[in-house]
Amino acid sequence: MTERTLVLLKPDSIQRRLAGRIISRFEDKGLNLVAMKMMRVTPELAKRHYAEHAAKAWYPSLEGFITSGPIVAMLIEGPEAIRVIREMVGATNGRDAAAGTIRGTFGSSRQLNLVHASDGPVAAKREADIFFRPEEINGFEPTLRPWVAANDEV
Ligand code: ADP
Ligand code: MG
Repeated sequence: MTERTLVLLKPDSIQRRLAGRIISRFEDKGLNLVAMKMMRVTPELAKRHYAEHAAKAWYPSLEGFITSGPIVAMLIEGPEAIRVIREMVGATNGRDAAAGTIRGTFGSSRQLNLVHASDGPVAAKREADIFFRPEEINGFEPTLRPWVAANDEV
């Protein structure tokens, strides 16, 4: 099933010049970038996006981090993209994330873990609506689609 999910390159990705390499991983997988922008997360936006964590003791530290520099927000589309991208990103703490995942490859921190990816269909829709207006989304039919998966798989 084709899904869309929100991916954020957090401020550490930008500061460490990893944006291109991380985006390349999603492109290499055959997924479709359908929206992308560089922006700053405000404290208000952080509270909306991380609403499930806003009451936690560590939330102020997370808000400080996510607002500390520019991010890149993306919508990425593809077969089972929500689960597939969560698996590509890896466990929250880079020290626990499997080798070969984005966090497992580039990260050594629980908080500075490079990437956000929506954790399910409800979150993906909610988070896409927070970061993108409909006119900022550019869906397209990639010409290589028949070479990425069989017709009866997608
Ligand atoms: P994930 O991004 O893997 O879904 P969570 O939803 O649990 O992880 O947490 C959201 C983000 O908050 C994490 O990606 C990480 O940047 C940060 N974070 C998680 N746990 C902590 C913690 N105990 N202290 C500080 N920051 C945390
Ligand atoms: Mg989460």
